[in-house]
Amino acid sequence: MTASDQCLFCRIVRGDIPATVVYKGDGITAFRDISPQSPVHVLIVPDVHIGGVADLDLANDELIGRLIRVAANIAREEGIGASGYRLISNQGADAGQSVPHLHVHLLGGARLRLPLV
Ligand code: AMP
Repeated sequence: MTASDQCLFCRIVRGDIPATVVYKGDGITAFRDISPQSPVHVLIVPDVHIGGVADLDLANDELIGRLIRVAANIAREEGIGASGYRLISNQGADAGQSVPHLHVHLLGGARLRLPLV
């Protein structure tokens, strides 16, 4: 059994666990967060298992560029391209990362608050 057999987001990418997928292509899958923190809350993930931003290496540069561009395209499709949005990738305990598969949160549709602490 590999890490991806047990990984929640790998299972969503494979279609083993249902999710509301809004984009799939070029090694990237995006789906709605099950517990949305803003009117638009989409998770954009690489299909390949990467634990988080701390696990990225040079070979992933193109993938990450594509992932961010896909996030901006989804924001436009969701109608928040002009009003604005936030991209977040949580890494580790202090950031509250709960799923150890790299993902970028696309949050928008309302005025987002800062600071976070
Ligand atoms: P993080 O806390 O940054 O690791 O983000 C993980 C996110 O995954 C949280 O916002 C959860 O609400 C979301 N999540 C957990 N399980 C699912 C699921 N089955 N489908 C969609 N989103 C999920």
